[in-house]
Order: sequence, then C-alpha cells, then structure tokens
Amino acid sequence: MTKRLTIAIQKKGRLNQDSVDLITKSGISFSTNGERLLAKSSNFDIDILLVRDDDIPSLVEKKVADLGIVGENVLLEYKSVRKSSKTVNVLDLGFSKCKLAFAKPEGKKIKSLNNKKIATSYPGLVKKYLKENSLKADVIKINGSVELTPYVGIADCICDLVSSGATLEANNLVEFKELLTSQAVLIANSTSSKLKQKRISQLKERFKGVIDARESKYVMLNCDLSNSEKICNLLPGADAPTILPLKDKNKVAIHALCQEPVFWETMENLKKTGASSILVMPVEKVLN
Ligand code: ATP
Ligand code: ZN
Repeated sequence: MTKRLTIAIQKKGRLNQDSVDLITKSGISFSTNGERLLAKSSNFDIDILLVRDDDIPSLVEKKVADLGIVGENVLLEYKSVRKSSKTVNVLDLGFSKCKLAFAKPEGKKIKSLNNKKIATSYPGLVKKYLKENSLKADVIKINGSVELTPYVGIADCICDLVSSGATLEANNLVEFKELLTSQAVLIANSTSSKLKQKRISQLKERFKGVIDARESKYVMLNCDLSNSEKICNLLPGADAPTILPLKDKNKVAIHALCQEPVFWETMENLKKTGASSILVMPVEKVLN
C-alpha cells in the first residue's frame, strides 16, 4: 500500500493562495505551473491535486484524495445531502472566513421565510434550515450571480456568502438572518487506512504549527523587577515568560511567546505599566 498522500486544493479562486501558503510554510516544496492538475512534492511524500473547490469533498469521499482544503460551507452543503458521508473536518484553518446569510432587497419587508422564493447555491443547507425551523419555502438553486435574482423576479430573497457585505451593498441587498459562519477547513476520510492516518496526523501537526505561528509573537521588554509580575499578567497568551536579570540589579528583561495577537493597545498598556524597549517579533513555526 502506498504511503504517499494526495491533498486536493482549489486550483483558482479565493482559497488557492492561502492553501498553497499553508502547504509551503509546512516545509513542503512543490511547483504549480500552467494548467497542470497534479503537482508532486519533491521533499515530502505528497501530491497536490488542483481542482474546483466544489469537487473536493467528493474526491475525499471517494479516496481519490486523502485530504482536502475547502470552505466549511462547501463541506456542510455536501454533507447536508449525504447523511452517510465519511468526509470529516479534521482541522480549522482560520482563513477565508465568511458567513452564509439570507439577504433581501433594501426596503422590502420579509417577516418570515414562509412561502417565499429563495435563490441560493446552497440548497441543501437552506432546506435543512427551513426544515429545522418548520418553514416551507421554494428553494431555487442558482450557481452564479445569486444577488441579481430578486431584481429579475426569480426570487424574493437570497441565501449567499457574505464577508465584508460590500457585494450585498453594491446590489442594494441587506442581510436579515445568518445561517452559518464558515472558514477554510482540512478534510479527510474517516475510513482511511492506519498508515495514511499516521501520515495525516504528522501533516496536521505541521499545519497546526503554521496556524499557531500566524497569531504568535515573540515579545521582549525591560522593566523594574518590582513590576515584573504585573507586566507578565499583561502579556497575551504567554504561558511561561522568561525573566532575566539585567546589569542594573533593580531591572529585568522579560521574554515571552505570546500565542494571542499583540495589538498596539497591548503595547501601550505595557508601557503605561512600566515596560520599556518593547520588541514584538514574528514567529515562523511553533511546535507545542
Ligand atoms: P471554483 O471555481 O473553485 O468553483 P468558486 O467561485 O466556487 O470557485 P470562490 O469564490 O473562489 O469559489 O470561493 C471559495 C471559497 O472561499 C468559498 O466556498 C468560501 O468558503 C470562501 N469565500 C467565499 N466568499 C468569500 C469572501 N467574500 N470572503 C472570504 N471567503 C470567502
Ligand atoms: Zn466552487
């Protein structure tokens, strides 16, 4: 049995760059040139399959790919109509955050979704929502330009992805109910072989290391020894700060790995509490 893994990622679109970055930052080298659908890594036993995002859950389900990177929205839509699916989310990846929400033309009154016509690319999820809320409505599946449907008389409202809301605003639509929030996720088949699962776990740890490093910062600062306790308490997500003596016996240097974002406000608070020479540095990898 081959121990080589295959990971399916989006070929072109919003998920592509972040997926490629995550894989390469995990120490996996590969090159994708031109229209090639398959890229082989030269330094890790993995092949990268470049496909449309909608095909990724079924490729993992059929074990054509062992892993996939896809929006949770696409995974949940896939699973909403395949109850016995073995494709599961194994890691939240923290990018491509968006939500699936109902929106209506500005000024139009919609008190309930009952008996309405709803246009969406996510019919499975919308129907599930309607069922769970004992509502009856007409769900119309549209693959693109969903936001235009209320204006051409096809639908009363839509259910579509929203991130900043700019597309809705540009089309005079307003959100009135959120269905779910989504982000990119790593998916795998829960029935993959023991050997593959071992390799998947190794890769997952590397991905986690890259994700944790994204938020993490290494902070160094100086302060009075008498203030060190207070200063340590202000460092976000720092489990075990290192306190080092300085030449001036009343002063110390504090070094800490902060595993939560360090904002300007945090630095200003540190300064107010007596810290000086505050350095915040990026972290490339974390292995906890
Ligand atoms: P494909 O050609 O691969 O089918 P697509 O047009 O269906 O691509 P994209 O628009 O590239 O898909 O979006 C891919 C995923 O990115 C979505 O399924 C969703 O998870 C996420 N996404 C969509 N819109 C946004 C957004 N505005 N902001 C952040 N993430 C988004
Ligand atoms: Zn798609």
